[in-house]
Amino acid sequence: MTALTLKDLTKTYPGGNQAAVRGLSLTVESGTLTALLGPSGCGKTTTMKLIAGLIAPDAGDIRLNDRSIVGVPPERRGVAMVFQNPLLFPHLTVAGNVGFGLRMRGLSPAQIAAQVDPMLARVRLEGLDHRRPIELSGGQQQRAALARALILKPDVLLLDEPLSNLDPSLRDDMRSLIRELQRETGITTLVVTHDQAEAVALSDRIALLLDGKLAQHGPPEDFYRRPATEAVARFFGGVNFVPGQSRAGRFHSALGPLTLPRGVIDGDALLTIRPEALRLGPGPNPREARVDGITFLGTQTRVELSVSGTTLQALTTPDQAADLRSGTEIAIALPPDALWLLPSPAKP
Ligand code: ATP
Repeated sequence: MTALTLKDLTKTYPGGNQAAVRGLSLTVESGTLTALLGPSGCGKTTTMKLIAGLIAPDAGDIRLNDRSIVGVPPERRGVAMVFQNPLLFPHLTVAGNVGFGLRMRGLSPAQIAAQVDPMLARVRLEGLDHRRPIELSGGQQQRAALARALILKPDVLLLDEPLSNLDPSLRDDMRSLIRELQRETGITTLVVTHDQAEAVALSDRIALLLDGKLAQHGPPEDFYRRPATEAVARFFGGVNFVPGQSRAGRFHSALGPLTLPRGVIDGDALLTIRPEALRLGPGPNPREARVDGITFLGTQTRVELSVSGTTLQALTTPDQAADLRSGTEIAIALPPDALWLLPSPAKP
């Protein structure tokens, strides 16, 4: 299995006033499915094209198992890329599309059929082998494009927003299929997405890109429980940020002294607590809070609170929120284990 390493990768497009990718270093561990996550324009597709060899970096290196592939033509990199738009050959049948790469490699029609048939079954396109791409649904086209890439057994598979053109109902199926195929084949896979929930549901590791730079890389739960910066926390739905100082295991801020988890170092910091971790009711680090607003969101209810003049948000179940009334005072708790300190924002 193949590890993919990006080292100080930089790319500025001609005429671009800032780099689309800036000093990006990232190791995608072999056999993992990693989500390359970030908002629109942060450089995700540019990174994929650099790895696939469709564009060249201005600086930096791309290594597969410690061999540089910068300068190696795309078709000899062992990298297959599936685009957001499936880009199937319109004049070829589904079987012709899926077997195309094998034909280019000089395999006989019998050898090609022996691989194409099971691959079509694997992506649930059996019986559709004689159709043209125009006769397929969007989801079926995506599955054909995935089959066309997988049949070549690439060292690295790149999927650019594979779910974004699909209806929500098809998205779950495609997500499960990608996950299953990746586990079965063990192919090191990088999936681009701008949707944090999708990245969490799909991947072993997330690499979050913000403004062309790597903001954090690690297992999905780290982005909720241990975000590296305020920007990372906000991207993952963080809403509660309170400036203050950590001293001798306590956090001093407008909320008054709060007991921190063990091992937190002293200094200026920005306290954060996930809205779903803020407890409505008695508990550790208790506070009095005024209910300022209640918003029913379907499966959850958002409760806006004011604690000593600081606004905090909690997410709770509709059942738990049923007895709350705006304008009333309630007890809340900020459990130490749910408190996380971020670096203080840079002073202007
Ligand atoms: P999206 O999620 O919207 O696809 P992205 O994260 O994939 O965004 P990129 O497509 O990599 O972002 O673009 C990064 C930056 O580079 C953007 O500012 C974009 O406008 C710019 N850019 C992308 N392609 C080109 C190009 N061919 N020429 C000039 N600038 C480009």
